[in-house]
Amino acid sequence: MERIYIGLGSNLAAPAEQLRHALEAMAHLPQTRLVGTSAFYQSDSLLPGQPRYTNAVAALDSSLEPLQLLDALQAIENDQGRERLERWGPRTLDLDILLYGDRLIDEPRLKVPHYQVHLRAFVLYPLAELAPADLRLADGRMLKDLLADCPFVGLERL
Ligand code: ATP
Ligand code: CA
Ligand code: CA
Repeated sequence: MERIYIGLGSNLAAPAEQLRHALEAMAHLPQTRLVGTSAFYQSDSLLPGQPRYTNAVAALDSSLEPLQLLDALQAIENDQGRERLERWGPRTLDLDILLYGDRLIDEPRLKVPHYQVHLRAFVLYPLAELAPADLRLADGRMLKDLLADCPFVGLERL
């Protein structure tokens, strides 16, 4: 079992409902336990002209291998009507693997830690609700240092 953190996001079709539905689906994955859920946060889209996003982070314990987990998460996205029309387009559901135990993964389909984890307040603040205060990422960065460099701006905790 490894501790895994998943970033959830939605800005279409009742985003909070999409997140709740996805949490339920993750709780039912094989070899996996949902061990924690952050609050939900709203923020403006990073790209103009899109509806506001709702985001959260979930903590899982799982013995699925990373690519198996990615397949399972993409199946949940597809079940919830995810369409891939344009990069960073609006979406019913996005599930990103933020951290996977203390693994560094650099494969064509999967980079962990997620490459933008340090830039996104809507990832770091919910992550900080679940992760230990002294969490060190697999690449050596400390979560508290990333938080200190990422102001809590434009986020609304629901
Ligand atoms: P961003 O990655 O900037 O958050 P996005 O989530 O909108 O953008 P997607 O279209 O959902 O990007 O995903 C594109 C591809 O990213 C996926 O098909 C997947 O193979 C790959 N990918 C690489 N690393 C990860 C990761 N840590 N979690 C989820 N997908 C990943
Ligand atoms: Ca994403
Ligand atoms: Ca994604």
